[in-house]
Amino acid sequence: HDYTKADIRRMAKEENVQFLRLMFTDLYGTIKNVEVPISQLDKLLDNKLMFDGSSIDGFVRIEESDMWLYPDLSTWMIFPWGSEHGKVARIICEVYTADRKPFMGDPRNNLMRVLDEMKAEGFTDFNIGPEPEFFLFKLDPETGKPTMHLNDNGSYFDFAPVDMGENCRREIVLELERMGFDVEASHHEVAPGQHEVDFKYEDALHACDNIQTFKLVVKTVARKHGLHATFMPKPLAQVNGSGMHINMSLFDKNGNVFYDENGDQKLSQKAYYFLGGLLKHARSFTAVTNPTVNSYKRLVPGFEAPVYVAWSGRNRSPLVRVPMSREQGTRFELRSVDPSANPYMAIAAILEAGLDGLRNKIEPAASVDRNIYAMDEEERRENGIKDLPSTLHNALKELKNDEVIQGALGEHLFNNFVEAKTLEWDSYRQDVSQWERDQYLELY
Ligand code: GLN
Ligand code: MG
Ligand code: MG
Ligand code: MG
Repeated sequence: HDYTKADIRRMAKEENVQFLRLMFTDLYGTIKNVEVPISQLDKLLDNKLMFDGSSIDGFVRIEESDMWLYPDLSTWMIFPWGSEHGKVARIICEVYTADRKPFMGDPRNNLMRVLDEMKAEGFTDFNIGPEPEFFLFKLDPETGKPTMHLNDNGSYFDFAPVDMGENCRREIVLELERMGFDVEASHHEVAPGQHEVDFKYEDALHACDNIQTFKLVVKTVARKHGLHATFMPKPLAQVNGSGMHINMSLFDKNGNVFYDENGDQKLSQKAYYFLGGLLKHARSFTAVTNPTVNSYKRLVPGFEAPVYVAWSGRNRSPLVRVPMSREQGTRFELRSVDPSANPYMAIAAILEAGLDGLRNKIEPAASVDRNIYAMDEEERRENGIKDLPSTLHNALKELKNDEVIQGALGEHLFNNFVEAKTLEWDSYRQDVSQWERDQYLELY
């Protein structure tokens, strides 16, 4: 929406908005909130609101902790749930340094920088349609803490009464629609207790904003139903994990760049170069699209998640799939991304990989329309099919060797990300798990 300051002042009054939630996203992809009373609205709209950034992970040092919040007026949204104190509105902000420069540790600012690069290269839009999946677990009524008890035993596209999560999911969809989301589909996923909600594609920046808002809404509604919604990639062993497939298309002034009526599979040469870049950098952007220790427990054979770097127009097993849709709907679906990713960083890395393919005319390997899981190692080698990194540690090694993806994150985010994730890996590495005790305690 193209709201003006006057529109926002009017809507705040009409709807009795009493509090403003100023939102931005930290390095871990967590939404951060500063809540201010409505009396601060004018100050906010005039870019005169400061906050202390020193306690935000991956942000700044103590000595430079004062930062400005510049509201992005297009993100103004009144939460449908009111309270006795009136309504709450949220607005997503850009973080600026004390000397009024865009702060490059703000992942959203960084994505805007990469999008500007894209525009300078002649493109107008990078459209993103995400497919986030999540699990619903029961909350312990005594403690209010999440348990590992599932809410249903449903499976793919099941109906109630098997699908007890249906009521909750329906309310999620209704809340989203009230907030202006265009929900295209929602369904039970393959694993028990697992769900997916798909909403309409948007330009990259607003798609990322939507993903962040979506997670907030899902968690809020689930709680009202006595449930905990988790976007953890693999909460349960032996069943599917949760992915967040990313559908993407690139536009210029003439429309969808990926479509060519006369191209091989009706894909343009530019589509092939973009794909070439995606595949070339896939191993190194995995640290960003799959940033937790747990992410790698999802990327294993047998659970509909990709394991190998390959693409296909037909098969669903590879990393990149080309859905049937053509003309303006021509797109690639990247299937490795999971919902623990910081969407702004993930999309910046993915876009930069594709742009690198275009700049350097990188041809993708031939498509693989056979089941890759049925090939042995030698066959995969003969077909030039590499593995995705198997652990966060290996993924970080790949990232540190790829200047293109580092460039997509910028120095501040890259350094802080690698530092934080290395600590995370080290902490995991030092833990001794129940699996190990079960395997070895009696055997040795
Ligand atoms: N849950 C699967 C994953 O981990 C995807 C299943 C699907 O959407 N077909 O990516
Ligand atoms: Mg889907
Ligand atoms: Mg799915
Ligand atoms: Mg999909």
